[in-house]
Amino acid sequence: MKILLLNAGSSSLKFELTEMKNEKVLIKGSCEKIGSKSSFIKWKTAQKSIKEKNIYLNNHKEAFDFIKNLLLGKNFDKTFEENTIKLKDLSEISAIGHRIVHGGKYFKNARLIDEDVIKKIQELTELAPLHNQAGLNVIFLCRKLFGNSIPQVAVFDTSFYFDMPPKAYMYGIPYEYHKKYGIRKYGFHGTSHKFVSRECAKIMNEDIKNLKIISCHLGNGSSITAVNKGKAIDTSMGFTPLDGVIMGTRCGALDSSVITFIEEKEKLKPKEINEILNKKSGLLGISGVSNDDREIMKSIKSGNDRAILAHDMMDYQIIKYIGAYSAAMNGLDALIFTAGIGENQWIHREVICESLSFMGLKIDKTLNKEKILGETGEISDKSSKIKVFVISTNEELMIARETVKQLNPKNSEKEKEKEKEREKDNVGVYSPSPSQ
Ligand code: ADP
Repeated sequence: MKILLLNAGSSSLKFELTEMKNEKVLIKGSCEKIGSKSSFIKWKTAQKSIKEKNIYLNNHKEAFDFIKNLLLGKNFDKTFEENTIKLKDLSEISAIGHRIVHGGKYFKNARLIDEDVIKKIQELTELAPLHNQAGLNVIFLCRKLFGNSIPQVAVFDTSFYFDMPPKAYMYGIPYEYHKKYGIRKYGFHGTSHKFVSRECAKIMNEDIKNLKIISCHLGNGSSITAVNKGKAIDTSMGFTPLDGVIMGTRCGALDSSVITFIEEKEKLKPKEINEILNKKSGLLGISGVSNDDREIMKSIKSGNDRAILAHDMMDYQIIKYIGAYSAAMNGLDALIFTAGIGENQWIHREVICESLSFMGLKIDKTLNKEKILGETGEISDKSSKIKVFVISTNEELMIARETVKQLNPKNSEKEKEKEKEREKDNVGVYSPSPSQ
């Protein structure tokens, strides 16, 4: 059974075709900078190396058409033909899984897409305007190209956080804003945290229900999640992916008065301050060098103080989250590092872990330096009370597995029923008991 995965960002469209019999990726790639003159597509088949082509992609539809041609090996630049997979027909694809960023209060699990699901994703575009709308557009394109009969499944970034307790997801603002606008912590990167925490339990040969885990997804966007007994009980990102630790271009947590102060002083509109906090802050804003950790690293080597500060801030904030979440779970069995920085930049792992020696956590420095380039494995010292792992994340595989699960009518019907019950009970919207 072949599953096509589509992950639509505001200016990107990632894709992956997986043979689920052996979970083998047949082709994967991404269209990037869609809508700009410098847009390009890069992809890789199982046998061939990465290919890249500069091509003007005006919108997601053009990107989608290119992907279709790539899958069929049709209407395609001859020089790249050997790098396609040449499906005989699109009907070889059994289902399509979509990564949808915001599932809000509705989606605790993945869902087979029907009109009701579309309506709810649409409603949630207010909370993730660029991402949810891009996801919807691609769902409609798929319907046009594949017809209505191909099952499409939505897998939500926020689902893993559905069971977070209200004390973790509520903000200390007037309660009415929660009721009126759904303002609460939703959490993101859920698919990644879910995947790596399950992999961690597998490696430890333990039932996840017996484990207290903290997973650090450190990439261009970064988040830290506390997973107790398999469930996410708290996470660093919040109402939007802006909260938490300092990231590539995002500021992370800050005193909200800073925002109103800058707005007033610089006479900025909400859209402009939003742009600064999301695109011009973080490692880039502090270092003035780049949002890319590799570039920051180079600058540190040449003694750039602001690059050093950016790194120090990032590591310090991560250490604080790990400390806080260990306390929140009253213990910690395993710490995970994942994503671009977490999997590759051993220096962050070393600095962070050294500060956690008070908890009896100790890494094997040689092992730590060896774990790069997506290699999964343990880096803790034998004497360590807490296991430490580098685990290569695979959100795509997780989405493919969730998609297959929803193809079973028993599962999809059950999910629909449970969703109706949750809506009836207003789950996900905190209601104080009458005594409160
Ligand atoms: P995104 O959040 O966009 O998915 P990634 O998980 O790809 O981001 O992480 C991007 C970050 O990871 C960048 O800061 C980059 O410097 C770092 N990174 C990615 N690959 C490597 C590598 N091979 N070596 C060192 N750093 C890397």
